[in-house]
Amino acid sequence: MRTQVGIVGAGPAGLLLARLLEAQGIESVVLEARDRHYVEHRVRAGVLEHGCAETLREAGVGARMDAEGLTHDGTNLRFGLKTHRIDFAELTGRGVMVYGQQEVVKDLIAARVATGGELRFEVGDVALEGLESEQPVITYSRDGGRESVECDFVIGADGFHGISRGYLPDLTAYERNYPFAWLGILAEAPPSAAELIYARHANGFALHSMRSPTITRMYLQVAPDESLDEWPDERIWAELHTRLADDSGFVLTEGPLLSKGITPMRSFVASPMRHGRLYLAGDAAHIVPPTGAKGMNLAVADVRLLARALGGYYAAGREDLLAAYSDTASRRVWRSTHFSWWMTTNLHKSPDDDPFDEALALAQLNYVVTSRAMATALAENYTGLPYEHDWYYR
Ligand SMILES: Cc1cc2nc3c(=O)[nH]c(=O)nc-3n(C[C@H](O)[C@H](O)[C@H](O)COP(=O)(O)OP(=O)(O)OC[C@H]3O[C@@H](n4cnc5c(N)ncnc54)[C@H](O)[C@@H]3O)c2cc1C
Repeated sequence: MRTQVGIVGAGPAGLLLARLLEAQGIESVVLEARDRHYVEHRVRAGVLEHGCAETLREAGVGARMDAEGLTHDGTNLRFGLKTHRIDFAELTGRGVMVYGQQEVVKDLIAARVATGGELRFEVGDVALEGLESEQPVITYSRDGGRESVECDFVIGADGFHGISRGYLPDLTAYERNYPFAWLGILAEAPPSAAELIYARHANGFALHSMRSPTITRMYLQVAPDESLDEWPDERIWAELHTRLADDSGFVLTEGPLLSKGITPMRSFVASPMRHGRLYLAGDAAHIVPPTGAKGMNLAVADVRLLARALGGYYAAGREDLLAAYSDTASRRVWRSTHFSWWMTTNLHKSPDDDPFDEALALAQLNYVVTSRAMATALAENYTGLPYEHDWYYR
């Protein structure tokens, strides 16, 4: 089989790229290791930057998001029993969209299927060949046989545990493992607040978030080696009540738990994001701790750039945008990496109860809620810097 762009991975990055290429008349094949049901029900991120939501609209997959998603014009920081609202709309003129990643994935798959674009699930043992040539080949197993796709370019959009990153011979990995993890739950309960609540408490961080008017998503800071067995539902609710309490009479609504899981907190940045005709996008190249809600947004930002670069190549033979991709994408990656680290560091309790770290974090949070400049910095990072910002350094 032959195509122009071979894409490994049908997460938000791979699927959106295929869609953006299709809009420019560029053919692609998307290869996914899992089955359709699995990828459509994988609960992960849920906060879309202003520009991310706009990108989905421009790609023609924003209708259900606009109908069912929740627009948030601000967020709440809670510490010392006080709640402080950061008004995104007033500070930046932008907001965020709360819409589950699995819903974005469903919309993208439906659009791909509707236009008859190639999207192959349950492929195994994906391998890449000829990446330094002009005709790389992706090989994979399917239905008991070995198949291949010849292409002009290969996009590694196969997430943090994918195979693509391993094909970069001179990769530098920048990494930070945080000394805590998040225990996340999805509950069948209406959200207890209209907007997200990021709470810093002596027992540790808690986040109150939502996926819809009937589904609440919440997180608790736990130890990195924590076992779910130690967290029966009653203990989770008790801890959420404690950490999310404030002096305004906040009431947390409970409901049956639909899922619970523990996610480690890690920052990882791979550089460069390209080797020969292989380009990495999304979690394949970088991951951030979820405190800044940047993971999926970065994946979308990467493929916006890639779609533009590949469009320039096919429409006008331009190589410059492809050559600039890794450096350009990395600028936004590092900005988001810093923001995610900053949010994580200031909102979590240091596991060794270091009083110096505690005082510094509280000093930062107090600064954010008393200084318009600091509040604006948080708001513009959270709602997402304009994509043009990525090019300003050039
Ligand atoms: C458990 C978890 C919880 C998260 N929670 C949050 C959150 O609360 N908030 C937030 O902002 N972000 C969160 N994130 C981050 C966010 O979900 C990711 O940044 C986002 O999924 C990145 O999209 P992607 O398309 O780059 O990668 P992915 O969504 O990981 O997609 C990669 C795809 O490639 C497929 N694949 C992997 N290997 C192969 C292979 N060899 N061959 C073919 N296909 C392959 C995978 O099955 C997957 O479908 C979370 C991530 C994880 C892992």
